[in-house]
Amino acid sequence: MGIYPIQEVIPLNTHMAESLRQILDQRQIVTNTTELITYEMDSSLERGTPDAVVFPRSTEEVSRVVRWASENHIPVIARGAGTGRSGGAVPEHGGIIIEFSQMDRLIDLDAAGRSVVVEPGMVNLTLDTLVKVEGLYYPPDPSSGRVATMGGNVAENAGGPHCFKYGVTTKYITGLEIVLADGQIARLGGRALDYPEYDLVGVVTGNEGTLCAITRIDARLVHIPPSIKTMTAAFDSIAQAGQAVSAVIATGLIPATLEMMDQKIMRFIEDFAHPGLPVEAGAMLIVEVDGYPASLDPQISEIVDILRRNGAHDLRIAQTEQERETLWFGRKSAGGAYPHYTADSTVPRSRIAETLDAANRICEKHGVRVGHVFHAGDGNLHPSIMMDEHDPHQVAAVLRAAREITEEIVRQGGAISGEHGVGIEKREFMALMYTPAELAALWDIKQVFDPNNLMNPGKIFPAEMPRANPAPPARNAPSDVFTPGSVEEAASGLRTLSELKRRVIINGRCDGAVTLSTQALSGIRTYAPDDLYITVGAGTTLDGIQAFLAKDKRQVPLVSPWGAATIGGLVAANVNSPQRMLYGSVRDQLLCATVALADGRVIRAGRPVIKNVAGYDLPKLFVGSFGTLGLLADVTLKLMPLPRAKRTLLIPVDDLNRGLAWAGRLLPLAVVASAIVLRKGSSLPSLPASPYVLAYTAEGIPEDVESELAQVCAEIEKIGAAQPTEVATPSGTDLWLELIANSRPNALQARVGIAPKDLSAFVRERAARFGTGSFLLDVASGLITVVVEIDDPNRVKQWLEELRRASLGIGGYAVVTAMAEEWSGIVDRWGYHPGSLNLMRALKARWDPAGILGAGTFVV
Ligand SMILES: Cc1cc2nc3c(=O)[nH]c(=O)nc-3n(C[C@H](O)[C@H](O)[C@H](O)COP(=O)(O)OP(=O)(O)OC[C@H]3O[C@@H](n4cnc5c(N)ncnc54)[C@H](O)[C@@H]3O)c2cc1C
Repeated sequence: MGIYPIQEVIPLNTHMAESLRQILDQRQIVTNTTELITYEMDSSLERGTPDAVVFPRSTEEVSRVVRWASENHIPVIARGAGTGRSGGAVPEHGGIIIEFSQMDRLIDLDAAGRSVVVEPGMVNLTLDTLVKVEGLYYPPDPSSGRVATMGGNVAENAGGPHCFKYGVTTKYITGLEIVLADGQIARLGGRALDYPEYDLVGVVTGNEGTLCAITRIDARLVHIPPSIKTMTAAFDSIAQAGQAVSAVIATGLIPATLEMMDQKIMRFIEDFAHPGLPVEAGAMLIVEVDGYPASLDPQISEIVDILRRNGAHDLRIAQTEQERETLWFGRKSAGGAYPHYTADSTVPRSRIAETLDAANRICEKHGVRVGHVFHAGDGNLHPSIMMDEHDPHQVAAVLRAAREITEEIVRQGGAISGEHGVGIEKREFMALMYTPAELAALWDIKQVFDPNNLMNPGKIFPAEMPRANPAPPARNAPSDVFTPGSVEEAASGLRTLSELKRRVIINGRCDGAVTLSTQALSGIRTYAPDDLYITVGAGTTLDGIQAFLAKDKRQVPLVSPWGAATIGGLVAANVNSPQRMLYGSVRDQLLCATVALADGRVIRAGRPVIKNVAGYDLPKLFVGSFGTLGLLADVTLKLMPLPRAKRTLLIPVDDLNRGLAWAGRLLPLAVVASAIVLRKGSSLPSLPASPYVLAYTAEGIPEDVESELAQVCAEIEKIGAAQPTEVATPSGTDLWLELIANSRPNALQARVGIAPKDLSAFVRERAARFGTGSFLLDVASGLITVVVEIDDPNRVKQWLEELRRASLGIGGYAVVTAMAEEWSGIVDRWGYHPGSLNLMRALKARWDPAGILGAGTFVV
């Protein structure tokens, strides 16, 4: 057993308090014992007194405080609104609380590019209110959103009722400014997408303040849905309502919310907000659908049919906005309407009914009362155990019940926290869910960011951790081509190769290096249509997966220009197409992965559940890591229904500037658009015979597609563009696939990523530079894919350098995605120096200490 050290706490003596006053204004510091009591707790049962609370006004001030704390070995605890339910903001070991209420500014709102930059103290609802004016929407909507801050939301990876359709916080965060444990300011990601760096934005999102202080947040937004309908349905039991949820999901419809509550909770809400709930029923669902007005009635009538077939009665549709708001006010107030302990956790959706049954039995056994109100679509349960926190016997019984419920959750394949975090409350449960090797991998991250354990010490990790045993070394050293048949074999082989210091390239070739092939790690491992996920060997081709899923009208919403590409390769290279604007990117589809690390450890990063904030988000680290951090042996991906309709408008464009202007006019219309691209140089015969073509693809429910394309056509007429042609194919994404797949062998392909708001000016200013090549501008995502047909590598180098200078200058990047092998010594593939390079190197050194994996193939 190992014990992770908590720093010896040095109380803030008078001398130190005086020195703190040297770096901040007196009015920004609280050390008065009475006032400090206010900061002893959050919304959990945990308590701890801080030595001081500071209120910085800028990143520089945060940096000064953290540097000072680091020099004096004093713990630092970041705090938002203190609504956390797991003790995350509680200063258990004393130290300094950094309170972010003075850093709550909106730094930038880019309505056209649909993104914002905010300070961490901004309240979730304030952000939503500010962007609403522009017709935009920030989807993560925790019930605590009226007070919880964006910093707290990012640190806990908050979710809410609308995350079933729209995804949780991590889907919306593209960049962060952070202050590291030694006071250094670092930048992770930014306003562009797919930065060529390890996804530390993904790791910091959900870090519970244990890695750094977040001082600035880049977030994406979506269009407010044009219309919404909300309905409630009563059921005799939770089991029946759970069955109805699965049946709705099985149809391929994606309601905006699927929330469930049982009778006990309905009665609390009814007493508190009087929304008129069916309080005699055993359970109730809130189902909300959104989209164009024309699609709402068909969606509702299909869902009503399914619900009725599954025993629903007392179906009601909110008739007015007031009625809808009252219902949501009641639902969102549920958490504060009665004293209770919430055992937040997630299970695969198909296990909801039996898990709740078990939770009820457990609570009965311990003599405590439990109610259920939860995000049923995500399988995110919230057994709410009623409790008088001043009665120690009751509290003890509640905590015993919570532990047994958590054990049951883990038995069902779930995660011990879906959105409230681990904090203090659940840290001892971490070993139930994770193996020693997995806990050690999580601790590695902590050590990389915070080697002295001063950032929110004691949270997430159990006090004592079992020792991780790596796989034994392979009996015989792997040969030049190593084709393991299992993850254990891969781990043993990698351990031996590490000892031999032999370079390894996964699914590639390089002189003197071992080729590690994933060919024998292929095939469908688990297909869980009810839980909407699939687990496949990393060597399985994407085409194979899609063919398997098509029979059930499902898909993994990813595409590849190369038929034989393996899913492991696509994840490791983070290959994304324009359809990401509707479905999200690789990082949004990956739920978990089994990985062999170079030192012989086998870890399952993540779990096959939709929401999981138990520990850091490890799966994201492997997305775009180019095989430099470990071998992906299998991956679990989210499933989506195949769209019922998909149509594209092709608009001929003669002039680049005009095309850019038109694209800018169409972008604000996008609700169900899956691509808005401007393409030059396509040889597809079905395209208009013009120098450029603007393609607008919409997909989803037929009525939504039709409504959106009608609006696009009206806008096209208004701006005086040529009449578009409506086609089934090619889609905007097909144009991207064709650009890459059909480019001449050895032609140089590059990807430029910049903030979408900068795309038009960037391209206009260097139109001539794109010159002879073909390109595709992904207008919604700020990505440019360009293929240049210049034979002289030195000219290409010059061309690339100019492009790079310009993109780096506005916070973006330009990387080479393919080129002639012999150019590799002349043309720098990456040309990018991430702000997180030191962190990336430190992480690589922990997981691949001998530096054998993909050496020299990535920026790290
Ligand atoms: C009634 C009620 C309902 C709730 N409903 C939901 C819900 O629907 N969905 C959901 O996800 N959660 C919910 N929560 C939990 C809670 O509101 C969220 O976890 C929220 O994100 C916390 O935000 P906060 O500003 O209050 O953070 P705090 O509680 O102050 O802090 C939470 C954690 O974030 C860290 N942190 C805060 N700011 C920063 C920063 N700037 N840099 C680094 N770390 C930071 C803290 O150290 C701490 O570990 C609910 C809570 C309550 C009381």
